[in-house]
Amino acid sequence: TSGEDVCCPWISCRRCVCLPFIFRPRYPVPKKASHVRVVDLRSDTVTKPGAAMRQAIAEAEVGDDVMGEDPTVNVNSQLIAADMFGMEAALFVPTGTMSNLIAVMVHCRERGDEMIVGDLSHLHIYEQGGSAQLAGVHATTATTRPDGTFDLEQLESKIRHGYPDPHYPRSRLICVENTHNIQGGRVLPLSFLQEVRALADRHGLSVHMDGARLMNAAVAQGVAPSTILQHTDTVSVCLSKGLGAPVGTMLAGPRDFIDQALRCRKALGGGMRQAGVLAAAGKIALLDMVGRLKEDHQNAKTFAQALLDCEPAVFSVDLAAVETNILRFCLKQKSWTPSEFCELMAQVCEGEEAELGQEIRVLMYPHFGNSVRAVWHLGISYEDTQLAVQKMHFVTSQLLKKNNRSS
Ligand SMILES: *Cc1c(COP(=O)(O)O)cnc(C)c1O
Repeated sequence: TSGEDVCCPWISCRRCVCLPFIFRPRYPVPKKASHVRVVDLRSDTVTKPGAAMRQAIAEAEVGDDVMGEDPTVNVNSQLIAADMFGMEAALFVPTGTMSNLIAVMVHCRERGDEMIVGDLSHLHIYEQGGSAQLAGVHATTATTRPDGTFDLEQLESKIRHGYPDPHYPRSRLICVENTHNIQGGRVLPLSFLQEVRALADRHGLSVHMDGARLMNAAVAQGVAPSTILQHTDTVSVCLSKGLGAPVGTMLAGPRDFIDQALRCRKALGGGMRQAGVLAAAGKIALLDMVGRLKEDHQNAKTFAQALLDCEPAVFSVDLAAVETNILRFCLKQKSWTPSEFCELMAQVCEGEEAELGQEIRVLMYPHFGNSVRAVWHLGISYEDTQLAVQKMHFVTSQLLKKNNRSS
């Protein structure tokens, strides 16, 4: 075969037919037609770095971070994060998944150690069981309540009181998630964290917070992140969600924890060289992007209220549960499935342009418990939210018409 016909799996050549099969987006990638407005509420991970961030990336002073010589990583992200979080030290890590895994590895470092996680936690559901698969750590679960908390009595009952009887693993760690992703961005009450802390102290356990959206929690509660984190030993905070950095998570905790975490990060392949180009974006995420999170919270509430105001009442939403940037809602009509609703929202429907004055595609995902999830972020303005409301009204009227036809 001639060189040109060879498909190189390691190069994304345009001729290669394999790539679409390797990476298949869950929705068709939005078309760029100028008259179609796309409101992407699938996740706050779709955010893109803005002009200030790109400039900081371009100008970042860098060095080899594995040798500890990248000033932007050391000073501009790790010191700032440690300070903000009220922790002794912090580590710049590629992803939240790796950060949580490192935390588990450091807290549960003896063979036979066990951690307690929420049964609906990201760590338990969405991280491929990495803590078992890669760290060899056994997990037991506590029931995640709708507000993201645990029942404390149940939590206490999950501790292996039988240790050191050789039948049992040794409880080491409690993991909490704040805000809670699957439960719709719920903010853990400070009183709950205080109680978990007291329980952990009574039993000599550590507390790790998967705080991928910690800053959303801090903004919603109107407190400093360090106020939340006074109750935890360690925390993992994503820079690449609503804060808009392209890559990066900060893992923070006591000095000796971070020393161990640095070793684990390298073992997992997360030691990066001139990572300052990423940390420069992370610095802006931490210092400049937190203030605007309240807009996301407000827009999520606005959309939730619009769902509630629909006549007839076809949506169910717990408005009090819309605390941050994630909204979960259900369709009351049994015949309307979340996936059908999401498909209609994402499509340009017939007659839409005539009625709405433009074509609007709103992307959302069907979610746990037969619900639909929508997530607000810095790419979504108040105006975008109003477009999403318009489209929701249009889709609802279409579905109601279909109902009438079939009844
Ligand atoms: C997104 C997320 C993570 C993982 O972050 P990645 O950077 O995508 O690996 C962990 N925990 C929670 C709660 C998240 O929402």
